[in-house]
Amino acid sequence: MNPKRRPILAGNWKMNIPSTQARELASKLIPLVAGVKDRDIVVGPPYTSLAAVAETIKGTNIGLAAQNLHWEEKGAFTGEISADMLLDSGCKYVIIGHSERRQYFGETDETVNKKARQALKKGLLPILCVGETLAEREAGKLNEIIGRQVIGGLKDILTDDMKKVVIAYEPVWAIGTGKTATPEQANDVHALIRQKVKALYSADIAEGLRIQYGGSVTLENVSQLMAMPDIDGALVGGASLKPESFAALVKFK
Ligand code: PEP
Repeated sequence: MNPKRRPILAGNWKMNIPSTQARELASKLIPLVAGVKDRDIVVGPPYTSLAAVAETIKGTNIGLAAQNLHWEEKGAFTGEISADMLLDSGCKYVIIGHSERRQYFGETDETVNKKARQALKKGLLPILCVGETLAEREAGKLNEIIGRQVIGGLKDILTDDMKKVVIAYEPVWAIGTGKTATPEQANDVHALIRQKVKALYSADIAEGLRIQYGGSVTLENVSQLMAMPDIDGALVGGASLKPESFAALVKFK
């Protein structure tokens, strides 16, 4: 953690709970994190729960994220959701290019980039996910893959907009597997991402960029991860589904 960057802890609820449970999870989380002022707290329910959770967290220190969006304004795109619809549902953030979207739904750096640009155009803050598979890491392709995802995902994003982007580094082999990257492994990739962003933009932009780590983050490992100089937050799947565990994690020391 670097004191110049405000930590951001986000929960990705994936396709796990219907709106009654989502509302309940949010309601329980509110008092548990009410006193937290020095970091950003974000929850990412499924689309069908966004409005219910928005209503529940209104006026609190918890922000709302969607898990995806479509890059077009509107029209004949059956099953898709636009940026305006997310704003209308109370979202401030949107998770883009999660590895599950890349892996199961054919998202590419190009579509990730279109989504990020549309989010920024509409005033949503993108949490742009990158990360390598185990096979890619073992084949020595880590730099190449991360470089391609960062450069491709940020293509044509202007400097001013870049100040609003959060990048989440999520090694695919660590997501939902209980295998966390070591704090050093994670920090190395965060530093690499920062270097790429410095080359694309400037030292200032790179220094201000918040980079979350994601991949089996729990209360047991969050403090060690957050102690690393280039780790500015966490994107949390499993451990965000229980209010007590997410709140404890958010309040890491
Ligand atoms: C995620 O979905 O982004 C994630 C990191 O999941 P988990 O914390 O369950 O590994």
